Amino acid sequence: MQKSYTALKALKNNSEASLYIHIPFCNSKCSYCDFFSVTDHSLMSFILDKTIEQTARYIDYFGIRQIPTVYIGGGTPTSLPLPLLEKLFSFIASLPLEEGAECTIEANPETINLELIRLLSGSCMNRLSLGIQSFSDTTLGTLGRHCNSKTALKALDLVKVHWQGSLSLDLISSVPGQTVSDSISDIDTAISFNPDHISLYALTMEDGTPLARQYDPDSQAIDDNVWIIAADHLEISGYRRYEVSNFALSGHQSKHNTRYWKLLPYIGTGPGSVSTLHDKSGLFRIANVPDLDKYLENTGLLCGAETEEITGKSYIFEYLMMGFRMTAGIRKSDFRSTFGMEITEVIPETLSEWKNKDLAVETEESIALNKGGLLILNQFLLDTLSELE
Ligand code: SF4
Repeated sequence: MQKSYTALKALKNNSEASLYIHIPFCNSKCSYCDFFSVTDHSLMSFILDKTIEQTARYIDYFGIRQIPTVYIGGGTPTSLPLPLLEKLFSFIASLPLEEGAECTIEANPETINLELIRLLSGSCMNRLSLGIQSFSDTTLGTLGRHCNSKTALKALDLVKVHWQGSLSLDLISSVPGQTVSDSISDIDTAISFNPDHISLYALTMEDGTPLARQYDPDSQAIDDNVWIIAADHLEISGYRRYEVSNFALSGHQSKHNTRYWKLLPYIGTGPGSVSTLHDKSGLFRIANVPDLDKYLENTGLLCGAETEEITGKSYIFEYLMMGFRMTAGIRKSDFRSTFGMEITEVIPETLSEWKNKDLAVETEESIALNKGGLLILNQFLLDTLSELE
């Protein structure tokens, strides 16, 4: 549903909100990727200026007084030349950041060099999230990644010596042709660089990507068990799972992503990004147009974004869908204060069935899916949806 420009003023109740900045540029396109990014860098500086302008306007318009976390994602943010990155960091440093705010930037190994690490170290960025995906050249080739294992190892050697901040590494498992020992070897190599956080994604074949055209989702080359065993290996190695695909050493969970899963407010700026703000009756979502020219052309507050109000059962479902991704599940008191009712009264049948099947656990404070339940999270969400309807 579209909301009028004037009605947006009612949204000025998001005084604490996180910031996501989308940098939609990559050096090449990976064959599994359906994120919005382009490899033509000719509009880079215009897009950055417009993104900075949109961020400043959102912060002012929505009355944001405190920013607890910042996440610069993409795309490949570090494909920006150093002077543009410097400009972005100075802008972010001028914002009302909470003291000790977690500020993450995503990077790919082929963009890592000493100058970049020095720039990051002298900026407000304190968390680096590196998209490694695999250390196997065969797996990287299947994924159509731009860099090889030698480049990834060289980047990590530099980071290990020169980066003092927090480090998260992204890995992908259940890639066609990848074996359990391949995935475990990736994890062991990643751990040897002492990251405090690892995201281990099971490869999903996104419609329309070159990889999805190449492999049937039921192909025997894709083994879901690889991810399951690899995830166990991560836990045995001391990285505690706290969300479907995220693992961390104690105290190093991503604060920014946790805010997404708790549906706390954030603004997203840059082409293709999304904002989720709190409205009087639910959520208000703003989706920026995933098109560089249209984003640049539009001079309105929202730069041509689509808007949507999420209220009633849709709001409840989204809250459950995001909250049950976390191993800690949903706190009953949080649900009660958000919706004015008990979670156990909203989906009683689903909760009782899943507890009886030993797939969900209820304590006095919270309700969560256990390891077996999280493996079939989609089925839980289908049950939840049909009970809500
Ligand atoms: S580097 Fe990341 S955003 Fe860019 S094409 Fe590859 S997966 Fe997509």
